[in-house]
Amino acid sequence: MQSIEIQSFLAALPMPALVVDGGGRVVAANGLVDVLFGPDIVGRPVAQSLRQPSFLAAFGQVTQSRLPQVADLTVTSPGGLDTAYQATLSWLDARAGAAILVTLSDQSEQIATHEIRREFVANVSHELRTPLTAIIGFIETLAGPAQADAAARTRFLDVMRNEADRMARLIDDLLSLSRVEDNERRRPRDHVDLSAEVRGACAILSGAASRANVTLTISTPPEPVLILGDAEQIRQLALNLIENAIKYGGGRVDITVHSDTGPDPQAILSVRDHGDGIAAHHIPRLTERFYRVDAHRSRAIGGTGLGLAIVKHITNRHRGRLRIDSQLGQGTTICVTIPSV
Ligand code: ADP
Repeated sequence: MQSIEIQSFLAALPMPALVVDGGGRVVAANGLVDVLFGPDIVGRPVAQSLRQPSFLAAFGQVTQSRLPQVADLTVTSPGGLDTAYQATLSWLDARAGAAILVTLSDQSEQIATHEIRREFVANVSHELRTPLTAIIGFIETLAGPAQADAAARTRFLDVMRNEADRMARLIDDLLSLSRVEDNERRRPRDHVDLSAEVRGACAILSGAASRANVTLTISTPPEPVLILGDAEQIRQLALNLIENAIKYGGGRVDITVHSDTGPDPQAILSVRDHGDGIAAHHIPRLTERFYRVDAHRSRAIGGTGLGLAIVKHITNRHRGRLRIDSQLGQGTTICVTIPSV
């Protein structure tokens, strides 16, 4: 390859890339390399700019074996920012002698994904560990000091049942979340009446509402509000929103389904409560897994911290939009808009 060809080849690559000769001197580099290391890397030994042992070892191996090698690198930009890269070193059969192509791929996204996964596993373990520790503690008390105390036994069994129920709810929500995430890219195909699913959800929650002294009012149009959907997921979305409105709201929850006809027809579900509301800075984070405004309150009323994350994924799968409007002291309105048939 002539040097002009090498230069245009490197310029066409979407990642930082450079060519090094067999003696370890940089013979060409693209503009993305200039951004990382400054413009005067060409002509200098590569070991000066990429002075890390993993890279130097990979460089030695590729010159000996002529087989591609990879090495992890941390690059500090001229602005002082550290970024993790993976360098791939490939032997080139160059007419003018030995040459090694080095391409650098930015690992930030993989590292961020790994971090999210790690945090998720830590959260799940903590959420399961807490009720489990309580259950084990009560079992020990019942087997020991409280063995002959009938009143304590009844009370402790009650607490153990609550803690076990909490673990079961968390596992159910984790399974729902993983199912929804699994089929998020598969578009639902059934004709589903949004009103019917919402009315079904209200019927399921009517007992919980009356226990909490909450009146559910529901308003749906006389004709079906059809969407292309997954009936079970739409029911779950409505259940999660209405259940939250009952848990965090007060007195009355207004549920409305209507169609917005026009060139781009939409089906809209709105759930409005009259509770304490949510401070504005929390709103963008509510659909994150395990994000709660008040973790103590959520746990005390049986929340898992996953309800709105599930709602968000179901909405995405239905190509819909989720909107949360809230004002402290005024209550919260959550609207889901889904393209209608
Ligand atoms: P949880 O199981 O904790 O209810 P969700 O994912 O359903 O989890 O909701 C996340 C958080 O959002 C809740 O812990 C609560 O702080 C807040 N939240 C959700 N819905 C409402 C609402 N209608 N009013 C006030 N706060 C709400």
